[in-house]
Amino acid sequence: MKSEWEVPATLKRSPRVLLKLRCPSMTTPDPGLFDKIVNLSKRRGIVYPSAEIYGGFRSTYDYGPIGVLMLRNVKDAWWRSMVQMRQDVVGLDASILSPPAVWEASGHLSNFTDPLVDCRNCGARHRQDKLKKKDLCPTCGVSGELTEPRNFNLMFKTTAGPVEGAGAEVYLRPETAQGMFINYANVQYTTRKKPPFGIAQIGKSFRNEITPGNFVFRTREFEQMEMEFFVPPAEAPQWYEYWCQTRLQWYIDHGIPTDQLMLRPHEDDELSHYSLGTSDVEYLFPWGWDELEGIANRGDFDLTQHAKAAGAKLEYYDQVTKERYTPYVIEPAAGATRTMMAFLMAAYEEEQVNDDTRTVLRLHHRIAPYKVAVLPLSKKPELSGPATELANELSGRWMCDYDQTQAIGKRYRRQDEIGTPFCVTYDFETLEDKSVTIRERDSMEQVRIPLDAVRGWLAERLDE
Ligand code: ATP
Repeated sequence: MKSEWEVPATLKRSPRVLLKLRCPSMTTPDPGLFDKIVNLSKRRGIVYPSAEIYGGFRSTYDYGPIGVLMLRNVKDAWWRSMVQMRQDVVGLDASILSPPAVWEASGHLSNFTDPLVDCRNCGARHRQDKLKKKDLCPTCGVSGELTEPRNFNLMFKTTAGPVEGAGAEVYLRPETAQGMFINYANVQYTTRKKPPFGIAQIGKSFRNEITPGNFVFRTREFEQMEMEFFVPPAEAPQWYEYWCQTRLQWYIDHGIPTDQLMLRPHEDDELSHYSLGTSDVEYLFPWGWDELEGIANRGDFDLTQHAKAAGAKLEYYDQVTKERYTPYVIEPAAGATRTMMAFLMAAYEEEQVNDDTRTVLRLHHRIAPYKVAVLPLSKKPELSGPATELANELSGRWMCDYDQTQAIGKRYRRQDEIGTPFCVTYDFETLEDKSVTIRERDSMEQVRIPLDAVRGWLAERLDE
């Protein structure tokens, strides 16, 4: 069998193939969807506004009992395809706090800025590069009152230890990537990996965004899923294309319809200071196309910078070709929290069923918070007892919910609303025929299965 990490034939294709995937005319986003997702999130414990009992803390969010499961599933799905299923990528969990030297070398102290403009009329602050009309304040609608842009550094600075001042300054990382670069030599030495190989990491990043907003799309504290793929310089263009295609496919494989996704290559004047080429995976959010992930060819910028600044050797010596080189880096950098929001939006559907409207999250089973729910038809102990036992048994393998309150129809709707793929109903007949009914979320079809076949039946559908 061909392993997933072998260089595929698509590498031979020209980068222009990517442009074919740009077709912004596709579906029109539902403008009401945004509010529906925010309401559902609050109502069902997916995402709460942070510090709500204190009146909230602007643009920070807490992930509730359902949201924490879903966010974890997004990260697990990413880890599964980026680390678990590949022999050429290993994982890392680097620190969030880091000294100024790292950010000096990476260029973040001088370059990690956004252009800030103030409105002289209403005092609102905006990110100039995100304004629809460059001289119009979107808050008060007055034009010609915006100041000249100033570069605003997005990094959060704090002090380590009890002494303030020079030498005690530390930064909260604004991306996880630098942790991989400064550990390149450690990881390469301990794992004996040869380029092409990658280091992957998932974790919190912090940016003092000028205009956080759109729910969890842009927050000051968020989670990233990043991978730095170190390659021989001559192979960088092919690997760049490979990762663009592979990452786009990941979203499709996990349930986002192709007509709501595109790959947008950056214009030259958009490129970051380190980039030799960048493409964004964009999703059609209710406000229009916006970024989910950036895939960049970072050249040898990062390793060269850290090698110079730290006096470290960050090269690779190829024993076969007798060549010494600084690897180039291809970086797919995604946001876990932003991706979760896109999955929620793509999965949300309101469907007419007889006289009723059912809200259903048609989530991919790997992303769904609960995989299965056990619902005894009655609270009576002769049903609730064995049904609880079944739920306990299934919980050893999958996140399994248990619900015995209200009518069964209402309970199905509650599970539909949080995307549970399967509900197992334990009824009075179960006591006689030792079988249960399994109801599928999307089709609402029901099948009767012997109790001792339930695990296998679910495994076939949930574990592939
Ligand atoms: P943007 O242009 O939206 O500010 P970026 O290009 O600066 O994003 P990257 O530095 O490429 O973002 O970060 C990689 C990914 O991390 C983004 O594609 C996004 O999914 C996520 N991300 C970046 N900033 C934020 C944020 N403030 N809140 C939530 N997710 C974020």
